[in-house]
Amino acid sequence: MPKVVSRSAVSASTDAQPTASSAAALRVYYCICGEFILVIDKSLSALPRRKTDDASVIRVQGTDSAPARVFKLNAVAGDAVLIEREGGHERQYRHLCPRCTLPIGYQSTPLPVKSAPFLYVFPGALTQMQGQVPQDALQPRNS
Ligand SMILES: [Zn+2]
Repeated sequence: MPKVVSRSAVSASTDAQPTASSAAALRVYYCICGEFILVIDKSLSALPRRKTDDASVIRVQGTDSAPARVFKLNAVAGDAVLIEREGGHERQYRHLCPRCTLPIGYQSTPLPVKSAPFLYVFPGALTQMQGQVPQDALQPRNS
């Protein structure tokens, strides 16, 4: 018989409590497939929007007057895409969901993300509720 060591003395349940203050300040976002994509210190809905495509703008590189956002992105690099804009073209370096490869955002310079001045997140690409399907998603629709 192996010797059984009692762990009752070291596993006080109160020790494992997360610090509420730091956890509450961060928002977690998921792809619609349920994959974790983004944790950030401010709600996406509270961030400025880009006029051209309504994407949420995450400031990656701070300036004296505008601090950078604190965030972590879990995504894989997609293709560089050329988008037609009024008065010219725009190159987008895409970020894809690592599980379902849905495009979730882009930046204007080659990766890595921290080298870009801004990170853009497509409107409606991410949700704060993991594994929850909108109530009307399974209802039949008239096409
Ligand atoms: Zn996904």
